Amino acid sequence: MNSHPKYPKLFTPIEIGGITLPNRAIMGSMHTGLEEVKGGFQKMAEYFATRARGGVGLIITGGVAPNRQGWVGPFSIKLTRRREIKKHRIITDAVHKEGGRICMQILHAGRYGYHPLCVAPSAIKAPINRFKPRALSSRGVERTIKHFVRCAKLSKEAGYDGVEVMGSEGYLINEFISSKTNKRTDQWGGSYENRMRFPIEIVRRIREEVGENFILVYRLSMLDLVDEGSSWSEIKQLAVAIEKAGASVINTGIGWHEARVPTIATMVPRAGFAWVTKKLMGSVSIPLITTNRINMPDVAENVLEQGCADMVSMARPFLADPEIIAKAKEEKAEEINTCIGCNQACLDHIFAQKTASCLVNPRACRELEFPIKIPREQKKVAIIGGGPAGLSAAKHCGEMGYEVTIFEASKEIGGQFNLAKVIPGKEEFHETIRYYKKMLNKYGVKINYESRVDVNSFPIADFDEVIVATGVQPRKLKLEGADSPNVLPYDQVIRGMHEVGQKVAVIGAGGIGFDMCEYLINGDQSMPTVEEFAKVWGVDISLEQRGGLQKPASHKAEREIYLLQRKSSKHGAGLGKTTGWIHRASLKKAGVKLLGDLDYKRITERGLVIEKDGKEKLIEVDQVIICAGQTSVNQLHASFKAAGVNAHLIGGALLASEVDAKRAIEEGMMVAYDISA
Ligand code: NAP
Ligand code: SF4
Repeated sequence: MNSHPKYPKLFTPIEIGGITLPNRAIMGSMHTGLEEVKGGFQKMAEYFATRARGGVGLIITGGVAPNRQGWVGPFSIKLTRRREIKKHRIITDAVHKEGGRICMQILHAGRYGYHPLCVAPSAIKAPINRFKPRALSSRGVERTIKHFVRCAKLSKEAGYDGVEVMGSEGYLINEFISSKTNKRTDQWGGSYENRMRFPIEIVRRIREEVGENFILVYRLSMLDLVDEGSSWSEIKQLAVAIEKAGASVINTGIGWHEARVPTIATMVPRAGFAWVTKKLMGSVSIPLITTNRINMPDVAENVLEQGCADMVSMARPFLADPEIIAKAKEEKAEEINTCIGCNQACLDHIFAQKTASCLVNPRACRELEFPIKIPREQKKVAIIGGGPAGLSAAKHCGEMGYEVTIFEASKEIGGQFNLAKVIPGKEEFHETIRYYKKMLNKYGVKINYESRVDVNSFPIADFDEVIVATGVQPRKLKLEGADSPNVLPYDQVIRGMHEVGQKVAVIGAGGIGFDMCEYLINGDQSMPTVEEFAKVWGVDISLEQRGGLQKPASHKAEREIYLLQRKSSKHGAGLGKTTGWIHRASLKKAGVKLLGDLDYKRITERGLVIEKDGKEKLIEVDQVIICAGQTSVNQLHASFKAAGVNAHLIGGALLASEVDAKRAIEEGMMVAYDISA
């Protein structure tokens, strides 16, 4: 068999559960929220079929509960009856039609179930859930195992090629394994042999029920990242027993949801936990899958090449680009829309009970709503502004076959992306810019740089549509002393236009205020290595400690930094649910002083005068950096309209309040569909 010239390991077929997969890439399990919406199965079918068409070896669905107690939330997806099979068939048929393979994940949420029916080995509340679980009786444990088996049997009848048993991330099975959450005194608790009996019985009885030719993936928590987590020898012991019980392949689980170590966010180095899976290689004879922050084919290939695993699982990268594998195969990695690990439109949406999508690919999970199309009527489109909104509009208009011209006032495209990419932990934005440059090139988009548009001299007749995407500018403060030389707007600081002193006050604790603090703490350092990351966040790479935790190293900032806001709420309350805590923890480690519930009085040569608790106080700093939101830059839209042009307004130019890359990119796509309607 000819191996692939660029990614030989990734494109080596592998046999698991009696099925030969064409490559080593798995689309990992991820809940999308479509599972519970009306018509969701049709939407999921298209979502998965699109990824199957894009060449992924194996897809694993989001978690499906084996019974009501195992729901992730009230009335979330479950598979308990034969009559539920029909809707799953829509998915399996669609994937198989594209030549793909798909397994269904069985997930019992245990004490993470966000509903009053939740159960656990013992009645111990999770720190991240307000519902206290009921402890399962011994008969209840037996019944739950039967429900896992029933769920697997029904999934086989629904046409799935296998199942994944979710045994990690702190869900029910993991709760049985750990002495932290399992205080039982029956045969399911006490010694490690007793605590691991639950997963072993589940796997053994599923295999007995489904027979040989059916993939059985077991997701094993290889690094709990919580106190009283498993020791490495226990993990090895479990892996060996799981193989013996009948699993076809073992997937890697990293960190319980309640763990306070980032495991998938942008600041985690790429493939930052592949070393954990590597440690288990050779201990079992079935294939191992590694995961977490593998987002490009070269990262996947490296991981396989270094012997970290036999297969790689990526979940979010398939949201960002359904064709990631096909593009790798065709050696077009430059065309991959890279997942930047932001969580903003995927996991944060799920936590907010919204359907998942993707910041860099707003079509994700809405493939039926926004199919790729070439409209019959061809148009000439001008886009004013080459920032996130303008670039997205250009890409989507180009994809539709329109003739697109960008007018950009500066010397480069990218707009706010160019600021974001400099922030430590946000380096992945380089990839987003690379992607757009490649797409613009692919679709023949013309770019006029240093071209500040004036409606009077604009060649209106040359275009059918004009999209105004002129973005935002930093808000200026109306405060005494705000014009002093020691007051700096955030964009100028990030562009390196000023020397920043040792003592700094940052006004505004929104996303950019937090980013600014990271920048002031870490400078423009490149991504930390796995070892550096582990030190700062307290991960024990030697795996000598239970749960893989150790005391984090000090990460005090050299600067004295104050982050200020007027409101009294928690700093960063508006940041994403899945990343806000990381940003807060990071600033705390660095010793940034968070002050709120105050008023700004004036800025003097000595620093910033605030009023707090009715008293004035001087914060002595060298500089005050303003991160107080933005205002729209939009002098053009109304003038274009007045001149009778089909003008559209998107992104920050339309509404500066809370504009972020997610909204800007989405509006860029929407406007293309509006034009083509
Ligand atoms: P933002 O989130 O709206 O925060 C601006 C902050 O400035 C506010 O929290 C506000 O706090 C303060 N402020 C507003 N007007 C002020 C005034 N006149 N004087 C003094 N303070 C004032 O805006 P941003 O930080 O510029 O971020 C823009 C968008 O990008 C947001 O949607 C943000 O979520 C997003 N973003 C997200 C991330 C992320 O990591 N998820 C990173 C960067 C940006 P007080 O009113 O309490 O003082
Ligand atoms: Fe990746 Fe962000 Fe898209 Fe989620 S929203 S898939 S993290 S790029």
